[in-house]
Amino acid sequence: MSNNKVTLADIFKAKNRIYSVVNQTSLISAPDLASEVGSNVYYKLENMQDTGSFKVRGAANLILNLSSKQQERGVVTYSTGNHGRATAHVAQLVGSQAKICLSHNVPKNKREGIKQSGGELVIHGDSQDEATEKARELVEEEGLAMVPPFDDPYIIAGQGTIGLEIMEQLPKVDTILVPLSGGGLLSGIALAIKMINPDCNVYGISMEDGAAMYQSLQADKPVQVAESEETLADSLQGGILLDNQYTFELVKEYVDDTILVSEEEIGEAIAYAFLKDNMVLEGASAVSIAALLNDKVPSVGKNTVILASGRNIDTDLFLSLIDKHRQYIK
Ligand SMILES: *Cc1c(COP(=O)(O)O)cnc(C)c1O
Repeated sequence: MSNNKVTLADIFKAKNRIYSVVNQTSLISAPDLASEVGSNVYYKLENMQDTGSFKVRGAANLILNLSSKQQERGVVTYSTGNHGRATAHVAQLVGSQAKICLSHNVPKNKREGIKQSGGELVIHGDSQDEATEKARELVEEEGLAMVPPFDDPYIIAGQGTIGLEIMEQLPKVDTILVPLSGGGLLSGIALAIKMINPDCNVYGISMEDGAAMYQSLQADKPVQVAESEETLADSLQGGILLDNQYTFELVKEYVDDTILVSEEEIGEAIAYAFLKDNMVLEGASAVSIAALLNDKVPSVGKNTVILASGRNIDTDLFLSLIDKHRQYIK
């Protein structure tokens, strides 16, 4: 990891490191979406990772690279849920302890998931920023190793392994749609893809309310955004850090465009994925479908990959969305 930059070589190193802990996920076709847009569409099934999201990749790459002494001392993170759960899961596999700092906004199903994976919950404050401060304190006070959710070379390289897998599974891919929050997922994938095929378009998608990376790109510097109280895409909440070191520049350099979708569009997309493809996706994971269904993707090629990033959605919320939309999705 030279010159503060993440490279394609780092992503290949991550690939060699993480498969003891992480699944290589399938790429499956989405025929209904394909007929909707008039070209091939595929789902990359990161929702089928252990813990229900792609976040195990970055967490595994970072934690497996720690010294055994540091693994014994333990790790800490802050998270809107899925990263915390992935960190707890990987820590447990290597016999390490994980403390997960959360704000009061994190949904109950995500808290339960973290506990189930052996993580210790530290609930602190009303925003992701306050949870972040708490985690940084624990690094200082208890000597725990930080497992940052997105702005870290090991995390980015770990998520980037998805890009390598997509290139192997579908070399002719020309469009990739990736949910976007802090941008670890998008920077890793975009870096891998653009190094191998610069002609492949890579897009980032966020919800309209509280899209921190989108607003930072508009301002041409990392900016603070008001956290949306209620969004179906809860895993996309949180800022990109005002002292962002990696993901802001990587997204700026390698990503073709960023797209916003509304809450209504996200809800419909969650229902669409289930009713058409029997897929359970959480809101953050359905934003790409929302972008496609509402003609928001600037250029849809012949072979589009949708990154299905996670499946951890509250059951009651999920059922109510299916109920609301089922009469319109035939
Ligand atoms: C974390 C997460 C994202 C966004 O990833 P970033 O690296 O923060 O941009 C998207 N979808 C799901 C399900 C997530 O958990």
